[in-house]
Amino acid sequence: MHLTSRGFPLFFTFDLDAETMWTARDASYAERPVLMSQGAYGWKVGADRILKLLARYDLKTTFFIPGLVIDQRPELMERILEGGHEIAHHSYTHRWILSLSEDEEREEMEKGIESIRRVTGSSPKGWRSPAAEISKITMPLLVEHGFAYSSNFFDDDSPYLHTVGNKPTNIVELPFRWVLDDAPFFQYSIVLPGRTMQAPSALLEAWKLEFDVLHAEKRMMMVGMHPQIIGQPSRIGVLQALIEYALERGDVWIGRCDEMVEDMRPRLQGATV
Ligand SMILES: [Zn+2]
Repeated sequence: MHLTSRGFPLFFTFDLDAETMWTARDASYAERPVLMSQGAYGWKVGADRILKLLARYDLKTTFFIPGLVIDQRPELMERILEGGHEIAHHSYTHRWILSLSEDEEREEMEKGIESIRRVTGSSPKGWRSPAAEISKITMPLLVEHGFAYSSNFFDDDSPYLHTVGNKPTNIVELPFRWVLDDAPFFQYSIVLPGRTMQAPSALLEAWKLEFDVLHAEKRMMMVGMHPQIIGQPSRIGVLQALIEYALERGDVWIGRCDEMVEDMRPRLQGATV
């Protein structure tokens, strides 16, 4: 039996970093219009191409968005919400957590929550770190703010419940790995690390092979994408091909993280008793 009542949990998540992918590394990049335009592609073109594809298959998914981008792009936020998608927390400015003081990290958390509350009317359920790192106060902050899930760790192919400060919690971890992310295959910038430009077919091959094993083992699949990357013409077809591949297999639930987490949590709680 799969981990949800509706089948194998397949998560499509989109980290809409936009210009913060650059400004989080170096604030002076804001003065370099061509660098900024590479991030702008995410909200100007990539996001809507993704929304259109998801609508064609009637899929609802999750967008992790820095609060700053939420505040800057209210019309895009409306389109994301109209599509039935979830907006989850992805910091405020996308600055690296390990470079922040505790006060700064608290501020990033609180401002990001406020931005999401302004557009959705409720607090975010999920949190993903801007740079795949957490500090010693991050998990306690998630408990304090009542988060339902985290999608940050690389240590499993199945979801699990977090223990924080030696206490069991109801926070579900939705783990991922770099092979399930578009950035290591395609992120190319003169100033960012990882100048790679692989063929779209390399990503599709990896994701199909991952799907086959994870589905057969009745685990989960967390796909992490960036609109400025997967939303480009040569790559959107990879996402479409994976959707088709999964739907043909059947017994799969492609949905919002918050809804799938609520569905699977009782099973996870049972497993820990
Ligand atoms: Zn990000």
